[in-house]
Amino acid sequence: NQSLTLSLQFVPYGDKQKLLVSRDITRLERVHTMRRDFVANVSHELRTPLTVIGGFLETLAEEGAPDPETHKWALTLMTDQTRRMQRLVEDLLTLSRLEDSENLVREDTVNIPKMLRELCHEAESLSAGRHRIHLKLDTKAKLLGNMDELRSAFSNLVSNAIRYTPDGGTITLNWAIRDEQGVFSVQDSGIGIEPEHIPRLTERFYRVDRGRSRETGGTGLGLAIVKHVLTCHQAKLEIVSELGKGSCFSAWLPAARLITHKSE
Ligand code: ADP
Repeated sequence: NQSLTLSLQFVPYGDKQKLLVSRDITRLERVHTMRRDFVANVSHELRTPLTVIGGFLETLAEEGAPDPETHKWALTLMTDQTRRMQRLVEDLLTLSRLEDSENLVREDTVNIPKMLRELCHEAESLSAGRHRIHLKLDTKAKLLGNMDELRSAFSNLVSNAIRYTPDGGTITLNWAIRDEQGVFSVQDSGIGIEPEHIPRLTERFYRVDRGRSRETGGTGLGLAIVKHVLTCHQAKLEIVSELGKGSCFSAWLPAARLITHKSE
């Protein structure tokens, strides 16, 4: 039950006749709609922080300096909103860079175990003792790829796990070889996701719970970035989740990208 968009056009054909030309522009139409939705989403995301900051500045201009406590509170709120816009712009730039470089050769040697140890330390500082964080390195295999992109993708998965896992929960980072492929997975004991949302999570700005995502500093672009990075590495994202129990996000990297040594 899919709709089809056709473009019909009469073009001159010989002296007296005209030819009716029909073109299938379904894909073009879809791209237009996606672009329109994307611009609407970005504008919407920017509008809220701008309204908050603009409102405070107007009040300051009209009413002069408030008492020190209100002043401090207003500055904190404005700083938070500015950071939110900065994160959004950073993520948008990352996505646009990825789109421009889809066909780039990604063949640097990336030391994944080392990268994961670093990510684990970052996770510990982000969690600030609220979660138990484990790192399981089942292989020492390295990978052929782009280090910055892989780091940004893995880091997004880890920060999501922290963001969507209540205090006291457990997060496990794992690097292993399964079915000859390299698998990096992040398992959490967090809020989980209802099955109907799972296929749409990597769409730009798709969120299960808008309020929770914003409250915890999400831009709604994290998984879109992850998916893009993985596609550029011919890799796949697998999401397994159970509501109220937790989620496991796994990046499956093709055997051809693995660098293993027999002794490992
Ligand atoms: P956000 O910035 O909102 O986290 P993402 O693209 O990273 O955006 O994720 C999209 C949505 O997927 C989130 O809003 C959240 O609803 C859901 N999600 C992502 N990771 C997890 C997780 N580990 N547990 C539960 N839900 C998650």
